[in-house]
Amino acid sequence: MCGVVGNWRVELIEAHRDLFQPPADFPGAAQGSPECDAGWRDLLDRLCVRIAGIVQADGGAFKFSQIKEKYGTLRVYWDGALSPDVDAQVEEAIALAEARSAVTCEECGEEGRLRDGAWLTTRCEAHSEGRPPVEHRSGLENVHVVRHFADGRRFVTCRRYDRRPRLLGIEE
Ligand SMILES: [Zn+2]
Repeated sequence: MCGVVGNWRVELIEAHRDLFQPPADFPGAAQGSPECDAGWRDLLDRLCVRIAGIVQADGGAFKFSQIKEKYGTLRVYWDGALSPDVDAQVEEAIALAEARSAVTCEECGEEGRLRDGAWLTTRCEAHSEGRPPVEHRSGLENVHVVRHFADGRRFVTCRRYDRRPRLLGIEE
C-alpha cells in the first residue's frame, strides 16, 4: 500500500467516525478503512447506518477492524463488546451486507455476478472483461462473520445465503 486512499473511503469513515474511530488527523488510516472498490460503497454506507442505530441504543463498544474483498465478496470484521442481543443484530446486518456484495458489481454498484479468472471477482457484464460467471458456487455463498474480543477469544459463525425462495410444500 502506498498510502493513497480514495475519497469515498475517507467520506464513509468521516460519516461514521464512531464506528471506525480513525486517527483524528488522518481518517483514511482507520484500521477498518475499506479494502474494496467503490461499487460497494452504498452497501457499506447502509451497513454503517444500520450498525450505528443498533449500537447506539446498546451503549456497548464497536469498532470495524477490517473491511475487505475476499474470494469476490465482502468480509467485515469488528472488535467490541455488545450485549448478546445487539451482537446478533450486528451480525445479521453484516451478513446481509456480505450477501448483497455477492450480487453487486464491486466497480460500479450495478447487479453483478461472481466471475472466474485469475481470481474471483463480483462484476456486472460491462465490467466483466469477458470473464465468465461462476455457475456453481458451492461453499462460496457461505457468509463468514468473525469477531475478535479484547481478551483474545475469537468467534466465527457461518451462514448460508440462498437467493432462491424455498418451497415449503406439504408432503403427502
Ligand atoms: Zn459494473
